[in-house]
Amino acid sequence: MPLSSPGPSHEGPPRPHAGAGAEAVDGQALRVAVLGSTGSIGRSTLDVIAASDGLFQAHVLAAHRSVATIVEQAWRVRPRFVVIVDAAAAEEIGPGALPPGTSLATGAEALDDLVADPQVDRVVAAIVGAAGLRSTWAALEAGKTVALANKETLVMAGPLVTRLAARSGGRIVPVDSEHAAIHQALRCGAGDEVRRIVLTASGGPFRTRPAGSLADVTPQEALRHPTWSMGPKITVDSATMMNKALELIEARWLFGVEADKLDVLVHPQSIVHSLVEFVDGSVMAQLGSPDMRVPIQYALSHPRRVAGPGRRLDFTQAMRLDFEPPDLVRFPALRLGHEAAARGGTAGAVLNAANEEAVRGFLEGGMRFTDIAEICGRLLDEHPFQADPSLDDVRRLDAWARQEVVKWACV
Ligand code: NAD
Ligand code: MG
Repeated sequence: MPLSSPGPSHEGPPRPHAGAGAEAVDGQALRVAVLGSTGSIGRSTLDVIAASDGLFQAHVLAAHRSVATIVEQAWRVRPRFVVIVDAAAAEEIGPGALPPGTSLATGAEALDDLVADPQVDRVVAAIVGAAGLRSTWAALEAGKTVALANKETLVMAGPLVTRLAARSGGRIVPVDSEHAAIHQALRCGAGDEVRRIVLTASGGPFRTRPAGSLADVTPQEALRHPTWSMGPKITVDSATMMNKALELIEARWLFGVEADKLDVLVHPQSIVHSLVEFVDGSVMAQLGSPDMRVPIQYALSHPRRVAGPGRRLDFTQAMRLDFEPPDLVRFPALRLGHEAAARGGTAGAVLNAANEEAVRGFLEGGMRFTDIAEICGRLLDEHPFQADPSLDDVRRLDAWARQEVVKWACV
């Protein structure tokens, strides 16, 4: 899809089944399904909902197996449904554990049904990793507006997901801060006036660490991000800069832009969240504190803007904004992102699965920090590439890449 034809994330007139416009007419709260409510994005989403003065209401909370956290959340926000995807974990929820009026559902299928329910107005897709694809797919298939944090969905199956949304009338509004920034900057011009899109990156904790010592990085060091507080997987992805690689692929499909129009710029302060350069030389950027509540709220309230709990920039204090080109030798993962965005097809699915498994191997011990990009690059080269895969092909290659990483780690 070319940039000149708006992708599924672009704004259009509010539609009756989903949108702040519809809510404004009848005064009803927008009912939100928060998938991954116990995680970093999920908890920030509940903050946004709590501060929304009744504009949003948590209708469904879903998590994998964090039973104690989700029960506490249920008492606080009184959703209609709590979903625990892991059946064994759900058994820990005894009678009376949930508040009156909240029902328990279990398993991935139940989650598919609930996100498609007519009572759900917006879905926040904040499950981590490939596991998030299924419920995002179900929500889009039902024509929902999805506030998409789970970038892995687009990395794995971008063309399939955007085609599905076009067919069903579902919409994707990005939560990822860079993509939320680009989404906003693109409102300043037409698609054919865009020259390039520049994603900013903090550079993570190892931006200035001697490249030769990266093989010795410990999980504790990789989990210490200088500007953002996030879940463990994306924090490691930020340290390898695989996160930016995945975001290049995400942007390619979300905005329907050719890969050679996408660039990365290191910006250690994480204040400029991304930039769009137009053909006349003007550059539009979106600035804000590094606080995910701002883009989450943007995705929920879009196309309107409303006051919210996100931290504000303080322009009464001196502030620096630094920019530097990324170091592709220190961060080989970035090169893989450019490559997978350009190749399309199954490249994103293989890169994503290999990375997920390698990050797991690194966090659980056994794999070195530098092994992550190495094994990802190798599998990207070796995999049986398909240019126009089906969802089954994507799933098959996802499983293949995971097995290969496990084999590699065992040698
Ligand atoms: P997290 O690890 O903090 O939380 C993950 C959530 O997903 C938890 O609620 C967990 O229960 C749930 N989950 C995991 N596996 C599941 C499964 N099989 N079924 C159902 N639920 C499952 O992760 P996070 O940092 O909140 O990130 C969530 C997503 O948002 C990721 O895709 C990440 O890339 C993206 N994202 C996060 C941030 C951030 O600041 N944290 C920023 C941009 C994008
Ligand atoms: Mg991001």
